[in-house]
Amino acid sequence: MTRVLVVDDSDTTRTLLVRTLERAGFEVSSARDGAEGAAAALREPPAVVVTDLDMPVMDGHQLLRLLKSETATAMTPIVILTSHGEAPSRFWGLRAGADAYLTKDSDPAELVATVGRLAAATAVGPAREPAGPLGPLDVLTKVVRQLDASLMRATLLNALLERGLSTNDLHAANRAILEVVAGVADAHLLAVGVTEPDAATLDVLVARPVSLRSTDRFIAATVAEMALPTNVELKVDVSGAGEGEGDADPSHLVSYPLPMRGATSLLALLPSEPQQFAVASAGLLADLAPHAGILLDNARLGQKLQELSTHDGLTRALNHRAILERLSQEIERAGRYDRTVTVVISDLDHFKRVNDAHGHVAGDAVLRAAADAMRHALRVSDVLGRFGGEEFLAVLPESDLEAGRQAAERLRRAVAERTATIASGERVPITGSFGVASQAELGSEVTADALVALADSRLYQAKAAGRNCVRP
Ligand code: GH3
Ligand code: MG
Ligand code: MG
Repeated sequence: MTRVLVVDDSDTTRTLLVRTLERAGFEVSSARDGAEGAAAALREPPAVVVTDLDMPVMDGHQLLRLLKSETATAMTPIVILTSHGEAPSRFWGLRAGADAYLTKDSDPAELVATVGRLAAATAVGPAREPAGPLGPLDVLTKVVRQLDASLMRATLLNALLERGLSTNDLHAANRAILEVVAGVADAHLLAVGVTEPDAATLDVLVARPVSLRSTDRFIAATVAEMALPTNVELKVDVSGAGEGEGDADPSHLVSYPLPMRGATSLLALLPSEPQQFAVASAGLLADLAPHAGILLDNARLGQKLQELSTHDGLTRALNHRAILERLSQEIERAGRYDRTVTVVISDLDHFKRVNDAHGHVAGDAVLRAAADAMRHALRVSDVLGRFGGEEFLAVLPESDLEAGRQAAERLRRAVAERTATIASGERVPITGSFGVASQAELGSEVTADALVALADSRLYQAKAAGRNCVRP
């Protein structure tokens, strides 16, 4: 016969429920509060539990959570029966895994039908040896442990979101995840890898010193799991503890996919004690994974948005607003530290002819080639912006006029040495004219606009002097 456990603190309700279910052919036992119900259910799991919510000692929600987290009763269907019809209570019950939610004023036939349906749907497991007697203290201990585990989970997620949700940078989000995970999982090596359609990053954290060989093998094993498309370049960044003596065996690599939209990513780690790992951290990390994925999505979208708002889509140089903003910052900084900043403005020569002879698409290819040539000719600390159609502005921090002239000469040569290959396969030569101006010429109060205007007047002189040259 199908056994049902009824848990309710009201004698009247309990008696009524027991009678209703017995009449429908169930074998019914009962308990007067959550703790008594938990002890009974754990001792000998029934086919279905029907429980009230508001009860002394231990309420229905706690009973529900406890039974769903214990292996013996995890699969036992639970019907919540209450006078509460409020949404929060219902939400909480269903989130905790209640299988059905009925109000006390619903038709007794509905209860019978629900219990019957749930009992029939539950696979009948092999008969279990009844557990030993379970006192109220045992039940309480279980509840407290479970509460503690839930609290830890919530706190961990909170730490993760707090650390990582404010960042607009994928690399920083990867680092945030690694640091939070390293705090809860004992691992020698951890990594987060993100594969986008046109880029891939792998951030590695060496949490405990290991041999370089181990780190390399860990990276290789992680990269193998990332399934990189062939033409995508992988950027690897390693940080953390230095090199050590010990070896870590990459065959113990554990990885979790971090679900993202429009990219794939994974968390990989080498547990310090692989045998212990599953018990201590595996569940926690599996719970963390979807949240980490949201964090990465958020950082990736933020980064893309930032990139779109500050960069020119065609040449990937900074756009007009961003390069001027950067120049203003550099001028301000130079004034503060008594340094100087120099700008180089360039304009491609007879660019209209390229468009006229080969069309706009070819013109765009030439623009990209010119920007690329200039970017490679600049120092890392210099920045290049697309100032207008075929005009570029380079900002050179910590450079005086003479250094700027030399840089401009390098840029001029780089552009002249580059020929753009256009769609037809034809190679189009490019040259540009350059004007240089330094903040030191105008004093520390100079504005970005004034500095650019001075450079622009010199660009004009370069054009007048026959183009493909630098002025002054
Ligand atoms: P100069 O040596 O005096 O600078 O001659 P120029 O032909 O380069 O000068 P002008 O300023 O008269 O012409 C610039 C041309 O650049 C006009 C415009 O058609 C073209 N241009 C501006 N922006 C773009 C762009 O984004 N793509 C393409 N294909 N052409 C552009
Ligand atoms: Mg022009
Ligand atoms: Mg031009």
